[in-house]
Amino acid sequence: MTAEFLRALISRAAETIRAHSQELTELDQAIGDGDHGTNMQRGFDAIEAAADNIAALQFGPALQKAGMTLVTTVGGASGPLYGSLLMSMGKAAARGAPGDRAAVAAMFNEGVEAVKRRGKSDAGCKTMLEVLIPVLEALNGGGGDALAAARQAADEGLESTREMLATKGRASFLGKRSIGHLDPGARSSALLVHVVCDSIEESQ
Ligand code: ADP
Ligand code: MG
Repeated sequence: MTAEFLRALISRAAETIRAHSQELTELDQAIGDGDHGTNMQRGFDAIEAAADNIAALQFGPALQKAGMTLVTTVGGASGPLYGSLLMSMGKAAARGAPGDRAAVAAMFNEGVEAVKRRGKSDAGCKTMLEVLIPVLEALNGGGGDALAAARQAADEGLESTREMLATKGRASFLGKRSIGHLDPGARSSALLVHVVCDSIEESQ
């Protein structure tokens, strides 16, 4: 079950990042250095190339290996940030694979905390955390359909970045000119939240 789920998740993630690579790059051209699409594609192509090895592992170690792959292949801030997210989630999962919504939320919380530490950032800085934190809150909230709540939180979190002033990352160099644009990392995070939700739904 884990192997099959991981394989499907990896190919869906790589396919989605490839399909949106140009869009991510264009968002990063507006408020960064225009490499977010190629950065993410390099990382997820590498994860896809290692899919057999990753899917052979238990869930926790598989997340850790995927995170390590991002750290070692992605140039740019997003590599170590997404790498920290996955490695910390993997470490949490290695202590016990998440069986229910509360356990998934606890694992995801470890990942989000790692991103905050690594990025020295938090909610309100116009980064990927604008998506990750609301998704975590939606999972912790406990109401209704968890997947629907996570998807909606991701979409709203992404949209919330448009009118924000960036205070972390390259976009912060633009000051007020960062206002009026979506954050590229928030867009890739929202895409990946949808990928994970779709994969869970398909596996049920
Ligand atoms: P780089 O900024 O080095 O060119 P990318 O373009 O791949 O790297 O990724 C940029 C994205 O990384 C941003 O849109 C933002 O979401 C995220 N990011 C950058 N710095 C931080 C930070 N300190 N904390 C959280 N996320 C950050
Ligand atoms: Mg960039």
